[in-house]
Amino acid sequence: MTQPKNKVVIFLGPPGAGKGTQAERLAAEQHLVKISTGDILRDHQDRGTELGQRIKPIMDAGQLVPDDILIALIRDRLADMEGVRVIFDGFPRTSAQAEELDVLLEELGAPVNHVPLLEVPDELLIERIVARGKKAAEDGGTGRSDDTEEVARKRQEVYRKQTQPLIDYYGARGQLKHIDGVGSMDEVYGRIQDGMK
Ligand code: AMP
Repeated sequence: MTQPKNKVVIFLGPPGAGKGTQAERLAAEQHLVKISTGDILRDHQDRGTELGQRIKPIMDAGQLVPDDILIALIRDRLADMEGVRVIFDGFPRTSAQAEELDVLLEELGAPVNHVPLLEVPDELLIERIVARGKKAAEDGGTGRSDDTEEVARKRQEVYRKQTQPLIDYYGARGQLKHIDGVGSMDEVYGRIQDGMK
């Protein structure tokens, strides 16, 4: 089967909902490029770039990195793509980012196709994030410096205030699909696939 030249999927959902894991699998199976802004920003920190140093305190506090930085990163990332076959994981996170993304995608002639929203109850989200932090420590790594209970709670609060409005933004356009994010990885993945039919 030939793949359409463009396909744009945006994974929405709170921190800890499983967006990264599910997006990874969907990207592999559907030959899409996963663009995870959290990963890109952490990579800047690891490499000690000027940007990395500037954003570290913001990310460690569970706050959002300024919109102009994110928009420039995404613009760069999409600039030299042949076709736009992407999954966004963790972007957009504010209305300004969503609006800019629309402008950018319009320029590229690649409108948004699907917006799965992974829904998981708050307490389970915190549990998952704290478990992820502990597991990284047990595995001998340093893990993510923002995977602590305190920062996880802050990230949920930031999500509610700044990112939740995007549910209406995409909902109003009929692109949003509510996905129950509780269950095994396979179960949730199956629901995402059904939602994209
Ligand atoms: P994530 O890996 O998606 O949980 O992102 C980790 C952190 O990176 C967030 O808590 C923010 O500080 C920052 N970040 C990632 N994506 C964005 C975005 N789209 N807008 C602003 N900040 C972001």
